[in-house]
Amino acid sequence: MDADGQRIERRIEQARAKIAAARPDSAPSPLLIAVAKRHGAGAVAAASRCGIKDFGENYLQEAQAKDAALPALDCRWHMLGPLQSNKAAAAARLFSWVHSIDRAKTARRLGQARLDAGLDPMPCCVQVNLGAEATKAGVPPAGLGELLAELAAIDGVEARGLMCLPEAGLDPDGQRRRFGELAALRAEHRIAHPQLEELSMGMSADYEQAVRQGATMVRLGTVLFGPRPA
Ligand SMILES: *Cc1c(COP(=O)(O)O)cnc(C)c1O
Repeated sequence: MDADGQRIERRIEQARAKIAAARPDSAPSPLLIAVAKRHGAGAVAAASRCGIKDFGENYLQEAQAKDAALPALDCRWHMLGPLQSNKAAAAARLFSWVHSIDRAKTARRLGQARLDAGLDPMPCCVQVNLGAEATKAGVPPAGLGELLAELAAIDGVEARGLMCLPEAGLDPDGQRRRFGELAALRAEHRIAHPQLEELSMGMSADYEQAVRQGATMVRLGTVLFGPRPA
């Protein structure tokens, strides 16, 4: 393994150790999704050699390029960024999960594309904008119930969890509060939607707090691959 590969391997081991230390005793280990966005296919290959099977990307084209560059790669691609409805067909085929659903219209296109391709319903997380940030995607907490009801009526997609991306720069208490809010929303809406099992929360700056609050999926970029190239 080359020096880059060894560095990535070491960082993955460190992240796994921190996740294990933060995990509540009764909780299963969260899924580690490696986010190699803006890094090349070599970073994905190196993480794959360390046993990572889940990779997140923000852009369909970038995921497609890496997938094409690594034909032997055994992985699931997770869509983390906004989905353009005109790319629903390609997204429906490439991705195993979409974490960024925040409106019914996109979900309808995606669901139709999954049905057209003869694939199982796309497992999705609904992105919740906890801090009501104007610059961020996501449904406000007050609109979550209505969106989940709409999604339940759409064939070809299945809402399986909630995702959040808290404000940058929160201290650990603030991070914990936000993740606790997402966990509480899941508990509330799981009564009507029992399949709402996942909490996709935690990035490089805050994943230990997310794991403490019961994250089932963490999405790590910088701590695994270093700063993103411009
Ligand atoms: C980029 C990104 C990540 C990874 O971010 P890091 O801070 O580098 O770990 C996780 N989730 C989403 C939605 C992202 O856009």
